[in-house]
Amino acid sequence: MAARKQFKVSLTKDNIVFASAHFITFRGHRCETLHGHNYRTRVSVEGGLDPETAFVIDFAELKALMKRLVDEIDHRVLLPMQNPKLEIKEVGDSVTVAYEGAPRYVFPKRDCALLPIPNTTVEMLAEYLAVRARLELKRAGGDAVSLTSVEVEVEENFGQSATYRESLT
Ligand SMILES: [Zn+2]
Repeated sequence: MAARKQFKVSLTKDNIVFASAHFITFRGHRCETLHGHNYRTRVSVEGGLDPETAFVIDFAELKALMKRLVDEIDHRVLLPMQNPKLEIKEVGDSVTVAYEGAPRYVFPKRDCALLPIPNTTVEMLAEYLAVRARLELKRAGGDAVSLTSVEVEVEENFGQSATYRESLT
């Protein structure tokens, strides 16, 4: 029986980045002040080869997809909608943020990215982007059919990153 061939392709580009503001809540009653990072991402997908083209996925398709996803959160304040210590409300054109009941920030709504995550750690940002990428690849069909995993790394500082990997099998 022939071995099943598996390949992994990775992509990291100067334009698959996002410069965004955030703050993290810690254990107990500690919350960071608002600050920003120039986040970088790397996406990897694993799978078998498309028999016609001999690639796992068209790099152009993967690049365009990741650029779309990071553009949605670039130059935004990243807000974790599932954080139990934060009360984040949309009020007209604004978003108000209270921490443990005390008002803390008011942002213009268009400057915010309201994310379905519990904290804006690099772990959660990596998972968020990987899940979004997986759903978009699935919707695109075609090349994505033979994929076995999607992995996203998010780096917030040089040498400081988290990677989330989602198996599709
Ligand atoms: Zn930070």
